[in-house]
Amino acid sequence: MNFPSKIKLSITPLSQWFPSTDKPLTIFGPCSAESEKQLIDTAKSISKNFPNNIFRAGIWKPRTRPNSFEGVGSVGLQWLKKVKQETGMLVATEVANAHHIDECLKAGIDVLWLGARTTGNPFSVQEIADALVGVDIPVFVKNPLNPDLQLWLGALERINDAGITKIGAIHRGFHSTEKTNFRYSPKWELVIALKTIIPELPIVCDPSHICGNTEMLENISQKALDLAMDGLMLETHISPKQALSDAHQQITPEKLFEIFSNLTIRKTFSENVIFKSQLEMLRDLIDRADEELLQVVSKRMSIVQKIGEYKKENNVTILQIKRWEEILRNQLQTGNNLALSSDFIKHLYLLIHDESIRLQTGVMNEKKQEV
Ligand code: PEP
Ligand code: MN
Repeated sequence: MNFPSKIKLSITPLSQWFPSTDKPLTIFGPCSAESEKQLIDTAKSISKNFPNNIFRAGIWKPRTRPNSFEGVGSVGLQWLKKVKQETGMLVATEVANAHHIDECLKAGIDVLWLGARTTGNPFSVQEIADALVGVDIPVFVKNPLNPDLQLWLGALERINDAGITKIGAIHRGFHSTEKTNFRYSPKWELVIALKTIIPELPIVCDPSHICGNTEMLENISQKALDLAMDGLMLETHISPKQALSDAHQQITPEKLFEIFSNLTIRKTFSENVIFKSQLEMLRDLIDRADEELLQVVSKRMSIVQKIGEYKKENNVTILQIKRWEEILRNQLQTGNNLALSSDFIKHLYLLIHDESIRLQTGVMNEKKQEV
């Protein structure tokens, strides 16, 4: 991945979006609105412990196959209005086209989000952006299903270009071909890249869609908070087993409270003098270790260069598969003894080997030009 360069969006700081939400921001509520009773019962139960929650519920549901539950449609907006009147919570729903925006604005919905399938389609995103011109409403953009940071950035830019400055991202995990325990792989590195590109962008994590089950929700929520994410979206249903969509990943309001109470909410920094001086000392050690690391890498690469010349003189190919396998095997062993993960060693050595091949190819070409 290239080192990401910054993008400047015009963003209202999250602290100014709502008069009374908590930090971290909470967006709890069912995957879908199913009936007025299900919605009101869920909302009342959540608001007992989270009065400043933003209540979420999908009204129009993008489903993979037709003839599964595709949401209750606009009638659900009236139920959300009632939730707002009866609990005082702000209400949020997913929009996928200009008609949805119209309906939500008419019903007084407080917060909108674009779903993963919509973010992946620039035509839909542009249609939504056009419908939002002149409107002042917070909008969250979920990541696209594919781990494509550019698509995510593009959607954020389109919505921001329409004049929406209360704009945030939702990390809901990515489709992956690798076998993982997640429904959608978190690929945290993409979220860190997004934060590096747009540091002022609020990012909420949606552990429900990442996990696809209820067992890992606490773990992923904690990880998101430890990565300084600004809020959590957790699907909560008064009776999860009966849910018409995403039943496996929804929790009861009681379970939600239990999970949330177990989370440690950390500050982004501490002004404590001892903390600051200790941190400075440790960072100094890191800087020195990094310098030593690069000295060693540089030494390795000059040996690689010599090997390249030697192979050329003896008319031997650059790539020596057996030797490469032996290096990887040995270094995996050494890494394990040094408590470094095998995954990390593999990544590191793929990079080192790639660079070694590049240098040796350079040596071969140089000599060819001299001839
Ligand atoms: C949802 O939030 O219920 C939803 C459909 O999410 P996603 O777009 O992340 O699949
Ligand atoms: Mn869902």
